[in-house]
Amino acid sequence: MGLKDFSHIGFKNTENTFMARFTLKNIFRLLFPLFAFLFFSPAFGQNKKFVVVLDAGHGGDDGGATGFGGYREKDITLQITQMVGGMIAKNHKDVQIIYTRSSDVFIPLHERAAIANRNKADLFISIHCNANKKTDPFGTESYVMGLHRVEDNMDIAKRENSVIYLEDNYKEVYQNFDPNSIEDLIGLTLYTNKHLDNSIRFAELVENQFKSNASRFSRGVKQAGFLVIRETTMPSVLIETGFITNPEEGMFLSQLYGQEKIAESIYNAFATYKKEVQQVAQVEEEKPVIDKPKVDTNSGSGNYKVQFLSSKTKFPNTSPQMRGLKNQPIEVVQTGGLYKYYYGSASTPQQATELLNKVKKSGFSDAFIVENKAAQATAKGPFTIEIMASKQKYESTDKTFKGYIVRRVKKDGIYSYQFGKFTSYADAQKTLEELKSKGFKNAMIIGN
Ligand SMILES: [Zn+2]
Repeated sequence: MGLKDFSHIGFKNTENTFMARFTLKNIFRLLFPLFAFLFFSPAFGQNKKFVVVLDAGHGGDDGGATGFGGYREKDITLQITQMVGGMIAKNHKDVQIIYTRSSDVFIPLHERAAIANRNKADLFISIHCNANKKTDPFGTESYVMGLHRVEDNMDIAKRENSVIYLEDNYKEVYQNFDPNSIEDLIGLTLYTNKHLDNSIRFAELVENQFKSNASRFSRGVKQAGFLVIRETTMPSVLIETGFITNPEEGMFLSQLYGQEKIAESIYNAFATYKKEVQQVAQVEEEKPVIDKPKVDTNSGSGNYKVQFLSSKTKFPNTSPQMRGLKNQPIEVVQTGGLYKYYYGSASTPQQATELLNKVKKSGFSDAFIVENKAAQATAKGPFTIEIMASKQKYESTDKTFKGYIVRRVKKDGIYSYQFGKFTSYADAQKTLEELKSKGFKNAMIIGN
C-alpha cells in the first residue's frame, strides 16, 4: 500500500465522520421532541405510573359460588371491582388501572396473572366471595401465597383453583396441576414469592379496613396456594369479601350499600399501601448510603439474637408477618430503607441455636444467628473463654490445650474447658483472638 492510498483513506474517513455527524445531528433534531416527551413523560423512569391490576373473580361460564338468594359470586365481584377502580380513578390521577375483565366474560386464571405481568403491575388485587356448605360461617379473609397453615386453607384454595377445569388446555397450561391434590397445593405454595412482605402488608390493610370501615368480622390475613396469584410477579392479594352462603353476609354483599362499603375499604387500603411503598421508594432514593442503625425497641441483653426478616415495611410485633413469634423481644433495626427484624436474646451459642430452631419452625427457614455487638460492648463481666467443649474428659494441663491451663466444668454431660477471667469484654476479646490464632477455632467468650 503506497502513500497515496493512505491519504485517500484518510480523506474518506474524514468525509465519513463529517457525514455521520451531519446525519446524527439531523436525526437528533428530528427526534428531540420524542426524547423530550419520553424524558418528561410520567411513564418514564422514577415517575412511572403506579399500575394496579383489579381482578374480578370468575365470570362467563364460571359463575363462582352461588349464594343465599341465588346471588352469584361473579356478579358481586365484578360490581365491587368496578367500584374500587372508580374510586382509584377519581382520587389518583397517577395510577394506571387495568381490569382483567370489565364484563361477564370468562378469563383463564393464567391469563389474569399474565395481564398483570405484561403490564408490569405494582399490585394485583383479586376480588372474590367465600362460600361454605353450611350457612353459618361468615367474615372476610385476605390471602397471600404461602405455606403457613396451608392445610387449613386447602378447601378454599381447591375451590378457587378448580375453575381451570373450564379451560380447554388446562393440563398443558398448568403442567398437570390437580386442584384436588394436597401435594400439588403444597407444591404450589413453594413458589417463593419475593413480594410476600408487601402482599402481607396490603392484605393487612384490607382486613383492618373491613373491620373499621365496613364493620365486618375479619377472619384475618391467611396464606394458601392460589393459582391466580402464583404466577404474578408483583405483590398480590386474593380477597374473600365475605360468605355469600351466609344469609346476612350474602344480603350485605348483594346490595349496593354493602358492595360500596367493601369497595371503599379496599380502596382505602390501596391508598394507604401506595403511600407507604412510595415513601419507602423515596427514602431509598434519597439515602442510598446505609444509615447508622437506629434501634427503636429495647435491645436484648444477650450476646446473640436471630435475624429472621429484612423488609421495606415496618410491621407491628403482633402482625401475621411475625408468624406468631412471641415470648422473647422482637427488635427492629432500621438501616437505609430496610427494616431488619431480630428475635430473642441468648447468652450462649447453645441457647442461640435453640432460638434459631424455634424461629425456623415458625417458618423463617432463612433465619440466622447474629452476634449482638451493642450488647457485648456493654455486657457486664466477668467473662471467661471456653476453649473447647467435648464429651472427652481431659486433665486441665493436657497437651490438647497447648500450654494453657484450663478449668474443666461439667454441664449436661459435656465438659467445658475454660480459660481466664476477665472483667471487661474487650480484654476477653483480646485473649480470644490470641487463642484463635493458636488454633482453637471454636473458642468463644462466655459469661462466667
Ligand atoms: Zn372465587
